[in-house]
Amino acid sequence: MIQQTLCLIKPDATKRHLIGKILSHLEDAGLTIKALKKIQLTREQAEGFYAEHQGREYFTSLIDFMISAPVVAVVLEGENAVANYRALMGATKPEDQKQGTLRKMYALSGRENSVHGSDSVESAEHEIAYFFTTNEIV
Ligand code: ADP
Ligand code: MG
Repeated sequence: MIQQTLCLIKPDATKRHLIGKILSHLEDAGLTIKALKKIQLTREQAEGFYAEHQGREYFTSLIDFMISAPVVAVVLEGENAVANYRALMGATKPEDQKQGTLRKMYALSGRENSVHGSDSVESAEHEIAYFFTTNEIV
Protein backbone atom coordinates (compact mmCIF):
# COMPACT_ATOMS: atom_id res chain seq x y z
CA MET A 1 0.00 0.00 0.00
CA ILE A 2 1.26 3.51 -0.83
CA GLN A 3 1.87 5.40 2.41
CA GLN A 4 3.38 8.69 3.54
CA THR A 5 5.70 9.05 6.53
CA LEU A 6 7.64 11.81 8.26
CA CYS A 7 11.43 11.95 8.30
CA LEU A 8 13.35 14.49 10.35
CA ILE A 9 17.02 15.01 9.65
CA LYS A 10 18.16 15.84 13.17
CA PRO A 11 20.57 18.58 14.35
CA ASP A 12 23.65 16.33 14.58
CA ALA A 13 23.23 15.54 10.87
CA THR A 14 22.37 19.04 9.63
CA LYS A 15 25.42 20.39 11.53
CA ARG A 16 27.67 17.83 9.81
CA HIS A 17 26.35 18.70 6.29
CA LEU A 18 24.71 15.29 5.88
CA ILE A 19 21.37 16.53 4.48
CA GLY A 20 22.25 15.70 0.88
CA LYS A 21 23.68 12.27 1.65
CA ILE A 22 20.61 11.29 3.69
CA LEU A 23 18.16 12.54 1.03
CA SER A 24 20.13 10.70 -1.69
CA HIS A 25 19.94 7.49 0.30
CA LEU A 26 16.17 7.83 0.63
CA GLU A 27 15.63 8.64 -3.06
CA ASP A 28 17.96 5.81 -4.11
CA ALA A 29 15.77 3.48 -2.03
CA GLY A 30 12.76 4.49 -4.14
CA LEU A 31 11.07 6.89 -1.72
CA THR A 32 9.57 10.08 -3.19
CA ILE A 33 10.14 13.42 -1.45
CA LYS A 34 6.69 15.03 -1.31
CA ALA A 35 7.57 18.01 0.93
CA LEU A 36 10.70 19.41 2.53
CA LYS A 37 11.58 22.27 4.88
CA LYS A 38 14.46 23.33 7.11
CA ILE A 39 13.28 24.61 10.48
CA GLN A 40 14.82 25.85 13.72
CA LEU A 41 12.45 24.24 16.25
CA THR A 42 11.44 26.20 19.31
CA ARG A 43 11.55 24.39 22.66
CA GLU A 44 7.73 24.33 22.64
CA GLN A 45 7.61 22.79 19.14
CA ALA A 46 10.16 20.12 20.07
CA GLU A 47 8.34 19.30 23.33
CA GLY A 48 5.05 19.03 21.43
CA PHE A 49 6.56 16.78 18.79
CA TYR A 50 7.99 14.42 21.43
CA ALA A 51 5.07 14.83 23.89
CA GLU A 52 4.73 11.05 24.37
CA HIS A 53 8.28 10.96 25.78
CA GLN A 54 7.57 13.55 28.52
CA GLY A 55 8.70 12.19 31.88
CA ARG A 56 11.40 9.89 30.46
CA GLU A 57 14.88 10.40 31.95
CA TYR A 58 16.25 11.40 28.54
CA PHE A 59 13.46 13.92 27.74
CA THR A 60 15.23 17.20 28.64
CA SER A 61 18.47 16.19 26.92
CA LEU A 62 16.47 15.07 23.86
CA ILE A 63 14.73 18.47 23.64
CA ASP A 64 18.01 20.36 24.19
CA PHE A 65 19.51 18.31 21.35
CA MET A 66 16.54 18.82 19.01
CA ILE A 67 16.78 22.63 19.31
CA SER A 68 20.61 22.77 19.14
CA ALA A 69 20.56 23.42 15.36
CA PRO A 70 17.99 23.33 12.53
CA VAL A 71 16.24 20.13 11.46
CA VAL A 72 14.96 19.19 8.01
CA ALA A 73 11.40 17.86 7.92
CA VAL A 74 10.62 15.61 4.97
CA VAL A 75 7.41 13.91 3.85
CA LEU A 76 8.29 10.62 2.15
CA GLU A 77 5.93 8.55 0.03
CA GLY A 78 6.19 5.01 -1.27
CA GLU A 79 5.07 1.42 -0.98
CA ASN A 80 4.87 0.57 2.76
CA ALA A 81 6.76 3.81 3.38
CA VAL A 82 6.31 3.78 7.17
CA ALA A 83 7.98 0.40 7.74
CA ASN A 84 10.33 0.70 4.76
CA TYR A 85 11.75 3.99 5.95
CA ARG A 86 12.01 2.72 9.56
CA ALA A 87 14.10 -0.16 8.17
CA LEU A 88 16.34 2.23 6.21
CA MET A 89 16.65 4.44 9.31
CA GLY A 90 17.81 1.66 11.65
CA ALA A 91 17.10 0.76 15.25
CA THR A 92 16.91 3.09 18.25
CA LYS A 93 19.60 1.29 20.28
CA PRO A 94 23.09 1.60 18.77
CA GLU A 95 23.83 -2.08 19.48
CA ASP A 96 20.79 -3.11 17.36
CA GLN A 97 21.65 -0.96 14.31
CA LYS A 98 22.32 -3.05 11.20
CA GLN A 99 25.04 -2.31 8.64
CA GLY A 100 23.83 -0.04 5.86
CA THR A 101 21.16 1.73 7.91
CA LEU A 102 21.27 5.52 8.19
CA ARG A 103 21.80 5.39 11.94
CA LYS A 104 24.60 2.82 11.67
CA MET A 105 26.29 5.07 9.11
CA TYR A 106 25.75 8.43 10.79
CA ALA A 107 24.52 8.29 14.42
CA LEU A 108 26.84 9.70 17.07
CA SER A 109 25.00 8.15 20.05
CA GLY A 110 21.65 6.74 21.17
CA ARG A 111 20.34 10.30 21.39
CA GLU A 112 22.19 12.05 18.54
CA ASN A 113 20.99 9.56 15.96
CA SER A 114 20.71 11.69 12.81
CA VAL A 115 17.16 10.80 11.74
CA HIS A 116 13.59 10.43 13.01
CA GLY A 117 10.89 8.30 11.41
CA SER A 118 7.20 7.87 12.20
CA ASP A 119 6.49 4.51 13.87
CA SER A 120 2.95 3.87 12.52
CA VAL A 121 0.52 5.12 9.89
CA GLU A 122 -1.40 6.97 12.62
CA SER A 123 1.69 8.72 14.01
CA ALA A 124 2.80 9.53 10.45
CA GLU A 125 -0.49 11.37 9.80
CA HIS A 126 -0.15 13.28 13.06
CA GLU A 127 3.55 14.09 12.56
CA ILE A 128 3.13 15.20 8.92
CA ALA A 129 0.31 17.54 9.99
CA TYR A 130 2.58 18.89 12.76
CA PHE A 131 4.91 20.38 10.11
CA PHE A 132 3.03 20.65 6.82
CA THR A 133 -0.31 21.84 5.46
CA THR A 134 -1.98 19.67 2.82
CA ASN A 135 -1.14 22.09 -0.01
CA GLU A 136 2.58 21.92 0.82
CA ILE A 137 2.62 18.18 0.00
CA VAL A 138 3.02 17.77 -3.76
P1 ADP B 1 12.99 6.23 17.61
O1 ADP B 1 13.55 7.58 17.22
O2 ADP B 1 13.84 5.09 17.14
O3 ADP B 1 11.53 6.08 17.25
P2 ADP B 1 12.11 6.64 20.37
O4 ADP B 1 10.81 7.10 19.80
O5 ADP B 1 12.07 5.57 21.42
O6 ADP B 1 13.09 6.14 19.22
O7 ADP B 1 12.89 7.86 21.01
C1 ADP B 1 12.87 9.14 20.41
C2 ADP B 1 14.27 9.71 20.43
O8 ADP B 1 14.66 9.95 21.78
C3 ADP B 1 15.36 8.79 19.88
O9 ADP B 1 15.46 8.81 18.47
C4 ADP B 1 16.61 9.37 20.54
O10 ADP B 1 17.02 10.58 19.89
C5 ADP B 1 16.05 9.70 21.92
N1 ADP B 1 16.22 8.58 22.86
C6 ADP B 1 15.41 7.51 22.99
N2 ADP B 1 15.85 6.68 23.95
C7 ADP B 1 16.95 7.26 24.45
C8 ADP B 1 17.87 6.91 25.49
N3 ADP B 1 17.74 5.78 26.19
N4 ADP B 1 18.92 7.75 25.72
C9 ADP B 1 19.06 8.91 25.02
N5 ADP B 1 18.22 9.29 24.05
C10 ADP B 1 17.18 8.49 23.76
MG1 MG C 1 9.85 7.14 17.98
